[in-house]
Amino acid sequence: MADFDLAIIGGGINGTAVARDAAGRGLSVLLVEQNDLASGTSSASTKLIHGGLRYLEQGEFRLVREGLREREVLLRMAPHLVWPTRFVLPHHAGLRPAWQLRFGLFVYDHLGGREILPGTRTVDLTVGPLGVPLKRSYHLGFEYSDCCVDDARLVVLNAVDAAERGAVVRLRTRCARADRQDGIWRLVLNARGSRDEATAKVLVNASGPWLGQVSETVLRLAAPARIRLVKGSHIVVRRLFDHDRAYIFQNADGRIVFAIPYHGDFTLIGTTDADFRGDPGAVMVQPQEIIYLCQAASEYFREPVAPGQVVGTFSGVRSLYDDHAAKPKDLSRDYVLALDAGRGVAPLLSIYGGKITTARRLAEAALAQLAPFLRQRPPWTHRVPLPGGDFPWDGLGTLVEQARRRWPFLAEAHAFRLARAYGTRLDRILADATRFEDLDTCFGADLTAAEVRHLIRHEWAETADDVLWRRSKLGLRLQPHEQEALKKFVDSERRVTAAAE
Ligand SMILES: Cc1cc2nc3c(=O)[nH]c(=O)nc-3n(C[C@H](O)[C@H](O)[C@H](O)COP(=O)(O)OP(=O)(O)OC[C@H]3O[C@@H](n4cnc5c(N)ncnc54)[C@H](O)[C@@H]3O)c2cc1C
Repeated sequence: MADFDLAIIGGGINGTAVARDAAGRGLSVLLVEQNDLASGTSSASTKLIHGGLRYLEQGEFRLVREGLREREVLLRMAPHLVWPTRFVLPHHAGLRPAWQLRFGLFVYDHLGGREILPGTRTVDLTVGPLGVPLKRSYHLGFEYSDCCVDDARLVVLNAVDAAERGAVVRLRTRCARADRQDGIWRLVLNARGSRDEATAKVLVNASGPWLGQVSETVLRLAAPARIRLVKGSHIVVRRLFDHDRAYIFQNADGRIVFAIPYHGDFTLIGTTDADFRGDPGAVMVQPQEIIYLCQAASEYFREPVAPGQVVGTFSGVRSLYDDHAAKPKDLSRDYVLALDAGRGVAPLLSIYGGKITTARRLAEAALAQLAPFLRQRPPWTHRVPLPGGDFPWDGLGTLVEQARRRWPFLAEAHAFRLARAYGTRLDRILADATRFEDLDTCFGADLTAAEVRHLIRHEWAETADDVLWRRSKLGLRLQPHEQEALKKFVDSERRVTAAAE
């Protein structure tokens, strides 16, 4: 008899989406993550919930259709973490012709169906705010819909929901070894220097860019197919324009680069695409990537973007199923699920590729593949909101207003940030506070001890970085001395929590 029906290696979007779905279908689930939730690729994405306009060009209709459909499913499931965004695509005279862009966007508008998101319109960039930050040579553009997401919080809230449905979520726990024995999996776990064991009927390898390494060194099996690791980097600069639209720029090398409004005062620019070798945990932006992104943006913006303006960077590694494309940009972004099972052999499911956008569908597909081995209830995740997401898709403004009426001391920006992060669960932080001071120490920006305690007790935060870079992006705002004070506070709270455990 195994301890769990399902053990999952990896606490990125794919592992947590499978854990949530499986737990909600009545399966007993163990998820192990060697570091923090979303500490791998899932906090380093471009943060789009999209079909992927560029993938249309590559003929990836299945992937694009699924992504387009997921936009409104996720918008309803997590209206705090996902928001509709309009993207402006300027026509560049030397690149794709205008008719081709218009045709691609027509297909994009109709391939996945839309109830909420408005369709494409042509925009005259010589009038109105959209052309203001751009060079005067750009006259014509197209504006279409996709969504943006807080990727790392999407992962965290999938994990919170999985745990609330009974899954055991263990962070800072590395699966050091997993062996098939007597028809089940025996896992050796390394948690903070101590060794532990667990057994499961089925194992899912959701370790993202570590997939090959886990196959070879933890499972001691050959990876079921070839993997190609592809790195992508982003830069963050101070806000480059005053409206709420994002830009999508075509680059002369056939790639595209986004410039997206980011946490109010910033613009996110990305991404690069390059083959990667080495430890995915040590991936870092290279100076030539910064130059590439600055040049790509400067081709369009009136004021050139210079490397000296960069206030932050992040890089991530995709583990893609190797379909032998010549260039990294042309590899399929679709997911592939490889099942290894046989009579009396404990099943192993390995996950290749995937997107933040399609993780919920990937989880459904994974559970469908595992149906012969695990009795389970039918799919359910398409109609159940994530924690705090039980309000209408366009109800964030109302939520902010309600919060400010109930807690009148809240500044609008503070209420907005809390509503975006926690949705209707913001009351768990604000509780019966009647003054800002009741939320205890403020570390900077509007990050209070009450919020940090919530993150430690209910969202597994253990370090200042967990708070500053994954459960929020306040690392962009807090000064070094404020970050140091936060670190001391988190360490002391952790000691108190550990002693109580
Ligand atoms: C530059 C870039 C931009 C992207 N932009 C978008 C976008 O805009 N929209 C979109 O939908 N998708 C986007 N993606 C794709 C998306 O980010 C990834 O597909 C997704 O994050 C992969 O999630 P994952 O769970 O497979 O991997 P990860 O998030 O990397 O998670 C794997 C986890 O496994 C853990 N792990 C590894 N080994 C072990 C072990 N032995 N024991 C325990 N834990 C282990 C790791 O610590 C890691 O946290 C982008 C990707 C990149 C690289």
